[in-house]
Amino acid sequence: MSSTLTRRQFLQRTGLATGGAALGSLVALGLDPEPVRAATVPLDWKLAETKTVPSVCPYCAVGCGTLLSSRNGKLVNVEGNPDSPINHGTLCPKGASSFQLTVNPERQKTCLYRRPGGTAWEPIELEKAMDMIADRVKKTRDQTFKQTAEINGRTVTVNNCLGIASLGGATLENEWNYAHLKLWRGLGGVFLENQARI
Ligand code: SF4
Repeated sequence: MSSTLTRRQFLQRTGLATGGAALGSLVALGLDPEPVRAATVPLDWKLAETKTVPSVCPYCAVGCGTLLSSRNGKLVNVEGNPDSPINHGTLCPKGASSFQLTVNPERQKTCLYRRPGGTAWEPIELEKAMDMIADRVKKTRDQTFKQTAEINGRTVTVNNCLGIASLGGATLENEWNYAHLKLWRGLGGVFLENQARI
């Protein structure tokens, strides 16, 4: 490539910026297309000696198709399934990082508790954490659940509990969010949010 060619000019002439007929343009420029071709073909080594099964991204209601590859029983790759009519092989950043949901060594695997006014997180048993949450939900719902409310001078049935809000995490999958929202709506919860938008 001529040293006077700017990056922008190079992309415009080769069509790389728009995914056009890049290889033909490269040849016209007197460039060897092999390195580009090598960088765009699938990498065989990635799938060598692997078992690949189709699956569905767990994160949101779009339901993008994925291909999960394992080697010796261990997950080694997650990518979009090109046969899926929903995503045609693509994944959003969240789905593309779903590999780390299973293999990330930084993943938090124990419950942590920060006391009121505390500055440090303390590890606690899951059973204890669940009991603490259940106690507080029961107490707050008993205190704040309302069957009726006065709206514009009329008494109307509301059956809501405005004392509790639920904010779902980004790694909650569809099934969890479905059950979670069923529970909270059954308790009268109104302030419900999660990333899956169910
Ligand atoms: S989180 Fe992203 S990749 Fe997963 S289903 Fe939703 S849109 Fe698709």
